[in-house]
Amino acid sequence: MRAPRIRSFGTFSGGIDLPDDKGSTLNAPIGAWTEIRRLSLPLDQNAESAASPIVQKDQKVTAGESIATGHNEAPDIFAPADAIVTGFSTVEIAGRLTTQKSPAIDLELTSSIELPAANPVKPHWSKLGEAAMWDRLTEGPISVHRGGALPLAAWVLRARSKSCGLLVANAMEQQPLVTANHRLMVEYGAEVTEGLAILARATGIPNAALVVPRRRTDAYRSLAVPAKKYNITQVALSHKYPTEADTILVRALTRRQVPPGRTPMDAGVAVIDPATCFAVYRWIACDQRLPGRIVTVSGAAQHPSGNYFLPFGVHCLDIINSDEHIVIHGGPMIGALCNEETVVTPATDAILSITPSPHAPPSPCIRCGWCADHCPARLNVPALNDDFELSMVEDARRAGVSACVGCGVCSYVCPARLPLTQRVGELKLAAIDAAAAENKGEE
Ligand code: SF4
Ligand code: SF4
Repeated sequence: MRAPRIRSFGTFSGGIDLPDDKGSTLNAPIGAWTEIRRLSLPLDQNAESAASPIVQKDQKVTAGESIATGHNEAPDIFAPADAIVTGFSTVEIAGRLTTQKSPAIDLELTSSIELPAANPVKPHWSKLGEAAMWDRLTEGPISVHRGGALPLAAWVLRARSKSCGLLVANAMEQQPLVTANHRLMVEYGAEVTEGLAILARATGIPNAALVVPRRRTDAYRSLAVPAKKYNITQVALSHKYPTEADTILVRALTRRQVPPGRTPMDAGVAVIDPATCFAVYRWIACDQRLPGRIVTVSGAAQHPSGNYFLPFGVHCLDIINSDEHIVIHGGPMIGALCNEETVVTPATDAILSITPSPHAPPSPCIRCGWCADHCPARLNVPALNDDFELSMVEDARRAGVSACVGCGVCSYVCPARLPLTQRVGELKLAAIDAAAAENKGEE
């Protein structure tokens, strides 16, 4: 496939300008959350990749010890700190449009989890041969949450098989309050850039780009040196939301259209997030397993706001718990309501407390067309809303509902307060299920 051409001032039709309301966390250094005592580490990544526990209740484990073996290229799971296995439970993994249940290993921590050291030892990873690099990738504890939660090795193989011509680190972070990627880029940006260079080498993709929001470029000036060293193009795109959605980013950056229901790799572009680049660098270059990721903790409830290095498996309601506010996983546009089972995973960029809005029931659609005008996937949202109300999944499928990126823009602009994002999301899942059943019938 021909390499996509990068458009430095690329944009897309639809979308909205969101307020740049980031609160106090924008300039606050990343901290460690020291009060974590219990974790529930999920065993499943997706329908095909899971891990089986190799520990028993009441067993003591030490930091870095393997506690579950991965299958189908899924990474093994390691104890993030010294701990005691207290049992096995079920947790909820929140995604962009869906939530998924997973079995989990429960741990009670007996030591604390520290912030990743700022200046780790840096062996020269570029001297690793191809076979050694591949071995390191497959042994690694990393999964890529973009495009369906894949183990890193499976993601690399998929990028190779699709002959992608461009690798992009998507650091666009546009939702109010969320600043986790920004702080990661400010404090560990050189390592993120090196991680991107490692992935470019592992996938054999000839061109790499680091895409950041134009309004934050001043904070990332120091990244010009490592980017130049590895021939990585830095691109600053406008803040129009939702370029943080990968398929929209690909359209803005390269003018290529991702086919509905497919991933950016099907358009020849592999997209990765900065947190995964950082984890890849720490693993490949420094032999360090990152047991968590940087997460924005903020919102209306009284608690310490900031960006914190939180371990995977920590319960979101152990971080914020408030009787007066609701707690969501992810940004305000697409966040999922947290319950007792929701835990931090590689996909968690924020845990926010939000003041519930006064009860205002939805009213019937007035056909203003705002949702369709602003939909970045160019969907006829009022017609899809009709399909939802009449349970017409086949109609929605023909109308291309699987192109929905779950950005939340339609609900945001709707004057009738209709929960359009949820409705279109449900139709999309039903359409995917119907297509899968059809394929099965044809086999
Ligand atoms: S229909 Fe989907 S892509 Fe379009 S605005 Fe709504 S959530 Fe976004
Ligand atoms: S924005 Fe709301 S009221 Fe307007 S057409 Fe869309 S669904 Fe109907």
